[in-house]
Formats: sequence, C-alpha cells, structure tokens
Amino acid sequence: RSGKVGFIGLGNMGGHMARNLIKKGYPLVVYDVSNDLTNSLKESGASVAGSPAEVASEAKNVVTMLPESSHVQQVYTADNGIFSTVQNGTLLMDCSTIDPTVSQAMSKIAQDKGSAFVDAPVSGGVNAARDALLTFMVGGTEANYNAASEYLSCMGKNVVHCGDVGTGQAAKICNNMLLGISMIGTSETMNLGMKLGLDPKMLAKILNMSSGRCWSSEVYNPCPGVLEGVPSSNDYKGGFGTALMTKDLGLAQNAATAMKSPTPMGSLAHQIYRTMTNHGFGGKDFSSAFLFLQEPKKK
Ligand code: NAD
Repeated sequence: RSGKVGFIGLGNMGGHMARNLIKKGYPLVVYDVSNDLTNSLKESGASVAGSPAEVASEAKNVVTMLPESSHVQQVYTADNGIFSTVQNGTLLMDCSTIDPTVSQAMSKIAQDKGSAFVDAPVSGGVNAARDALLTFMVGGTEANYNAASEYLSCMGKNVVHCGDVGTGQAAKICNNMLLGISMIGTSETMNLGMKLGLDPKMLAKILNMSSGRCWSSEVYNPCPGVLEGVPSSNDYKGGFGTALMTKDLGLAQNAATAMKSPTPMGSLAHQIYRTMTNHGFGGKDFSSAFLFLQEPKKK
C-alpha cells in the first residue's frame, strides 16, 4: 500500500507513534485539537491538517489514537469527521482503547463508504511507543490485518490478529484489567514493605526474582526512585493517566456485566481508580496508586 499516512491524536502515545512512521520514511499529515502538539509534529516533518476531514481527503491510510469512545465517534462521524471525506479503499486503523461495540459501529460505516476499518489497540506504555516496541491487538478481516501490519509494525514489535473487528479491544480490555489490578497490588506491597523498614530498591529486586514479579513491579515500579525513566520517578507525569485506566476498567466491567463473567478484583480496582480520579489523580500516571494509598505527609 505505502503512500501518505494520516495521523489523528498526537498525545502521550500518538506523538511517539507518529514520529516512528516519519522515521520509517512515510509522509505524514496530522491533526490534533491541540496546536502545540501539531506544531511539534510539524517540526518533525509532518504536514498539518485543519480537521479529520482534511486528513482523510489527503491520505488513504489513517491512524487514530484518541482518549475514549466519544472522541473516536466525534473524529470519525462529525460534520468535519473522517467519514465526511473518506476515499474509496482507505484503510482506517484505530489504536485507541474504546468500547468494542463502537469499533464495530465504525467498521460498519467504513464498509458502507467503501473503506476498511480495523481496531488495533496497543499495550506497552509511552516508552514502548517511543521505542517502537508496542504490541498491537488487531480486530478485522485477514486482508485488512495484513494491510494494517505494514504500518503497525513500524510502531511496534508485535502485531497480533485477534479475530473480527472488536476482538482487538476485547484482548486489550482483558490485559488492562489485569494490569490495573497488579498495579494496585504492587503499590500496596511496596508501601507495606517500606513501613516494615525494607529499602524499596531491595524489595523490588526481591519481588522481581520471586513469584510476586509482574510488569508493574519490574518495568513500571510505582515507588519513586526504584526505576529511572518511569512516571513514578517523574512526579507521576506523562505515562498512562489514571482517568484513562478508570475508563478501561469501566469498559471491562461493562463487558463482564454483558457476559455475566464474575470479575471481583477488576470491579474493586475500577472503584479505586475512580476514587483516585475524583481526588485529583486523574491526570497523573496510574502508578500514583502508590501515593494515593499512603497517608498524607504531615506538615
Ligand atoms: P492522551 O490524552 O495523551 O492523547 C490523546 C490525544 O487526542 C490528545 O492529544 C488530544 O488532544 C487528542 N484529541 C482528543 N480529542 C480530539 C479530537 N476530537 N480531535 C483530534 N484530537 C483529539 O492519551 P494517550 O495516553 O496518548 O492515550 C490514547 C489512547 O491509547 C487511549 O485510548 C488510551 O487508553 C490508550 N493507551 C494509552 C497508553 C499509555 O500508556 N498512555 C497505553 C496503551 C493504550
């Protein structure tokens, strides 16, 4: 396929992903509601469009990386949205984590317009996005998966076909439910260990050579100073916002309710992140669960 690539949503993840497509030699046309973000991509060599419609009129391969279902619906279906100008044969790749039923609805409209849609949510975090090490979970036909792989493999190391449209989201929601649970578990464990007098770096080292080891303890430890280059060591800035994790656990709960599948730990984790969001942690990385579980510092 090759050709010009459109990219909409240049936030914590999308900005890095777009830059990796430029690095691989693709001409890029980008759009975001934030001018600061489009200007920054312009400096990296992208051209800037004034709306999603303009992106779709210029590119026949379009990647979207937006916060929630409502933003995806807006960017695709609004008056100046992608579908208002989408060209025949366009491949639309939505990498946002959203409700699988919204992915299916977007795919249906895409089909009616003579274009193709895949859901391709990612796991890996901002550093993996920067280093093109993401995992993509792709829902769509075999042919559309193969076509999308050309672009997705420039931004990640694993591109997995999960099944029909919506199944990428299903896989992603399951992963993030487990991640959300394990981050709280790691946070309460690190806090307890420190209260017992253990050095946090030493405790993390023990966990990571023992059966408690998980991604949250090893790669993204929530205790400041244990690892360099992760949000916990940068005042919980950047990374994966608690509000977004709350959204993902809400999607998991909706799915669990629809499937009558018991998810007691996922449900509790959802409520903890929701409480954090309502207490000013929404914009901080979700590993700030560590901070939230500590008693406030005495003045
Ligand atoms: P973000 O909030 O940093 O970025 C989203 C971007 O979308 C922002 O720049 C925002 O301005 C833009 N946007 C919002 N509405 C728009 C519109 N109508 N038109 C154009 N642009 C619009 O979010 P993020 O952390 O990059 O995450 C994006 C998606 O990826 C989310 O669904 C998230 O759940 C998922 N995700 C994030 C991570 C992570 O570690 N941050 C990891 C895996 C998956």
